[in-house]
Amino acid sequence: MPSTTSAEAAAPAEPSTSSPALAGKTVVIDPGHNGRNAANPSIINKPVPDGRGGTKACNTTGTATNAGYSEHEFTWDVATRVRQALTARGLKVVMTREDDNGVGPCVDERAKIGNRAKADAVVSIHADGSNSATARGFHIIYSAPPLNAAQREPAAKLAGTVRDTLRAKGFPVSNYIGKDGLHGRPDIAGMNHSTVPAVLVECGNMRHPEDAAQLSSAAGRARYASAIIDGILRYLG
Ligand SMILES: [Zn+2]
Repeated sequence: MPSTTSAEAAAPAEPSTSSPALAGKTVVIDPGHNGRNAANPSIINKPVPDGRGGTKACNTTGTATNAGYSEHEFTWDVATRVRQALTARGLKVVMTREDDNGVGPCVDERAKIGNRAKADAVVSIHADGSNSATARGFHIIYSAPPLNAAQREPAAKLAGTVRDTLRAKGFPVSNYIGKDGLHGRPDIAGMNHSTVPAVLVECGNMRHPEDAAQLSSAAGRARYASAIIDGILRYLG
């Protein structure tokens, strides 16, 4: 249980009024990929700095369920649900893309959007595409080893909090990557470039039938969004 500054913030995250602890807080929501990435390979394959001295592709197309429901559509849907709920609670929400019909932005630029906004929390939303028939469950990625103070305790706390709220909504932790739903990585440029607390949520494996059923249904996406909202509010509260 993270430390809280008021009894209201410690309560289940459903009250209709804003907590004073949340006033003035800024959250950046980063819906992974974009709807026109696949049609613009020359743009999204362009190398950009990865934050550790190497390069990474500007962006990727993302994955899809076996039935063809795309990751970019999933991340956009969940992100807009999260934005709507947090805005209603009085938080300032900045999105890294404004619709699901564009290209990019590149992963380093996504991180800079969070940095420029001086975000109190950044949550990137993704879903994975493992071809292993048994791989399922969510995991939270953060930058490791950390490159600055925000990537140490604050990012670790944000990762643990969102892991806990996803678990509380009944989502299973990954059985194929990371440990207890957490996975520190050095190769995720969007996390490496962040100078504010940032995590990336891989909500599930789009290739696994049970995960895909959640990821591609409106009810499932509402539950993912609700868990992420709870995690952000608990972290900030
Ligand atoms: Zn992704």
